[in-house]
Amino acid sequence: MSETSAPTTEQLRQWDKRHVWHPFTQMSEWERDEQIIITRGEGCWLIDTDGTRYLDGVASMWTNVHGHCQRELNEALKQQVDRLEHSTLLGLASEQSIILAARLAEITPSGLDRFFYSDNGSTAMEVAVKMAYQYHVHVGKPERSRFITFRNAYHGDTIGAVSVGGIGIYHSTFKPLMFETILAPSPYCYRCELGCSRHLCSMECIDALETLMKENAGSIAGLVIEPLVQGAGGMIVQPAGFLRMVRELCDRYEILMIADEVATGFGRTGTMFACQHEDVVPDIMAISKGIAAGYLPLAATVTGDKVYSAFLGSYSELKTFFHGHTFTGNPLACAVALKSLELFDENNLLVELQYKVAKLKLRLADFESMPHVGDVRQCGLAAGIELVVDTESGTPYPWEDKVGIKVCLEARRRGVFSRPLGNTIVIFPPLVISNSEMDFLMDVLYESIKTVTE
Ligand code: PLP
Repeated sequence: MSETSAPTTEQLRQWDKRHVWHPFTQMSEWERDEQIIITRGEGCWLIDTDGTRYLDGVASMWTNVHGHCQRELNEALKQQVDRLEHSTLLGLASEQSIILAARLAEITPSGLDRFFYSDNGSTAMEVAVKMAYQYHVHVGKPERSRFITFRNAYHGDTIGAVSVGGIGIYHSTFKPLMFETILAPSPYCYRCELGCSRHLCSMECIDALETLMKENAGSIAGLVIEPLVQGAGGMIVQPAGFLRMVRELCDRYEILMIADEVATGFGRTGTMFACQHEDVVPDIMAISKGIAAGYLPLAATVTGDKVYSAFLGSYSELKTFFHGHTFTGNPLACAVALKSLELFDENNLLVELQYKVAKLKLRLADFESMPHVGDVRQCGLAAGIELVVDTESGTPYPWEDKVGIKVCLEARRRGVFSRPLGNTIVIFPPLVISNSEMDFLMDVLYESIKTVTE
């Protein structure tokens, strides 16, 4: 590549196909198709090399909060880069990571005020799992080494995070590498594994969970849950009260409750954290994605004094938490995260959000009567529209029909970028989406579903 001429779109496409291995992507198909190359962002929009604009319907993998290239966030990043780009937390403290932890402690559920930084959602969950087990070692119960997880759960793609996941299609290949967990039924009311229906449900899945806890009493270190909504499993929204009951059961059986707020944290469900809807305080909480507003990789595993103090002791006792990542607490990411929290306050974002959530609810109602929409699920500013062959029987489209993908390609032609979860169309825009942008997003998705399924 010469220094004077920027590569053309065609060159970029060729190099991408030649050198970049994309995540969750069948590369033989990717290499065959013509790909969009994004070069700029503006508010809720992504702009490609040809200047074509796409509404970012999935907030760039569920991370974006205040829009792309937001002026104040850009400024915060520029100011920080002129002061310090990175310094390690191994053996040194750094200003921005301290201020951010102190600020986060003011908004996390009560008592959760110890922050172990890492880089992404998977690492935050790896840390949570190791922390929960080592806690039991320190309190003299090393036999508590197993974890309860839910079917359809997703906690990331590293081996520990995959082990506590519950999505066969993503996870089963790696079974020989994974540690075993105790799999509880998913609170997926539309396709209840226990044969119940949404209208005749007395949360039999909670009874089943309690049975598992009873049967395995004494060997369980922790329970891992995505609070309120199983995101990657298909935007599966839990019945009201489910999370609260899970908390009560964890207390009853002395199991550490690990809440994975990687997708739900930072306003997505309408409160800062999803656990706050049901006044639940987990023992350990993982946060990432929206923490730095979609700008930079940053995560934290948060806990309180009960867990933290179990790790305190003399050097020789080896109670140290032997875990750490090179870019832990990166100052650039922390500076953006701090500015993002300021913007939440300045723009009254959580209050404004309630109107958007209500508008989304209104617009989703249009989809319910579509002939191939089996279920519409919403949690705050996140939603899933599950497409089926037949609404009477709920027969799913075969995976290989790629109906979700076809709808998203159709939406792309109409100016919306979305990414499905199997046959479920996802709605997960930046939290600052405007009224007219929301109308555009929903109009395009409606027409795209209609075109593909009818
Ligand atoms: N946990 C949840 C609930 C998620 O939705 C995700 C990603 O979608 C992760 C963990 C993994 O995060 P990352 O992709 O940053 O590793």
